[in-house]
Amino acid sequence: MKQAVLKEPYLVEIIDVPGPRELKANEILLKVHRVGVCGSDIHMYYGKHPFANTYPMVQGHEYGGEVVAVGSDVTKFKPGMKATARPHLVCGHCPACLRGQYNVCQNLKVEGCAGPEGAAQEYFIIPKDRAVVIPEQMSYDQAAMIEPIAVGAHSTKRAGDLTGKNVVVTGAGTIGNLVAQFAVARGAKKVLITDLVDLKLDIARECGVNETANLKKESFDDAVKRVFGDEGFQVAFEAAGVQSALTALIGGVENGGTVVIIGVYVQNPVVNMGFLGEHELNVLGSMMYRHEDYLEAVDWVAQGKIKTSPLITQYYPISEYFDAYKFIEANADEAVKVMIKVTNA
Ligand SMILES: [Zn+2]
Ligand SMILES: [Zn+2]
Repeated sequence: MKQAVLKEPYLVEIIDVPGPRELKANEILLKVHRVGVCGSDIHMYYGKHPFANTYPMVQGHEYGGEVVAVGSDVTKFKPGMKATARPHLVCGHCPACLRGQYNVCQNLKVEGCAGPEGAAQEYFIIPKDRAVVIPEQMSYDQAAMIEPIAVGAHSTKRAGDLTGKNVVVTGAGTIGNLVAQFAVARGAKKVLITDLVDLKLDIARECGVNETANLKKESFDDAVKRVFGDEGFQVAFEAAGVQSALTALIGGVENGGTVVIIGVYVQNPVVNMGFLGEHELNVLGSMMYRHEDYLEAVDWVAQGKIKTSPLITQYYPISEYFDAYKFIEANADEAVKVMIKVTNA
């Protein structure tokens, strides 16, 4: 079967390997139909991901497929069903795992990043405890997007109750978009999303995030004033992973407000800790998701509360995996979610 492997920075190869091994009792064999390309894959492609730097690596931690076989202990999943799974490999015995916070397991590995292999191959074996059923009416594209959607589910829960609050999200790529959609769906009063690229803001509006600002054309402070008036904003999500966005949010959020950090910072940012202390700000980390976030993500997509199709900007067949990365490298502003078609299903 074919696999897409990042051999080293700036080199993706399609290789042929023997078909999948025999299943263990708790395992599910998935025929992979879609793999989404993630921002962190591209950081790894550049050799600049701060935490994922293992090569060679079979790509892909966002995927959707069809169950083709199950082990003897698997009852919930049957051949023909659609499924995806969390890419977490956790130890189960560190303090974080023991208190159920396994998304920050001290020995966490993510399949396709630091884990042994990702799902960018024709068949992929997943254990039943990390798998989720995708309802029949959902597409394989949607199944492959459950991973980033779960990031949105988790990070917006980190900030507590958003009902009636004004929210700013910096960065309108896939993650920022989905975080903003969750903030709207969780009852925020107004949600403003910012970016430097009109296409991404257009997509945000298509997804129901109505307040947008292009910070190439309008200052952050002007945008906040225009959208929220004197009310300001109480909660912010930093999904751009850049200094300027973090500085704007820390400086702009209401006193006592909350800033949730989601972006991957290639360059370690500077934070005015004195200002943070003086204004009693809450700055919270958010790391991926847990199983309940996957379940909520599936549920909310199935209910139509979270939109996915406007985010998919390009498709590539698995044979052109390298071209997909090269396209993103050359056209970052035109690529939001690039989807790899492992099959035409
Ligand atoms: Zn991802
Ligand atoms: Zn652990």
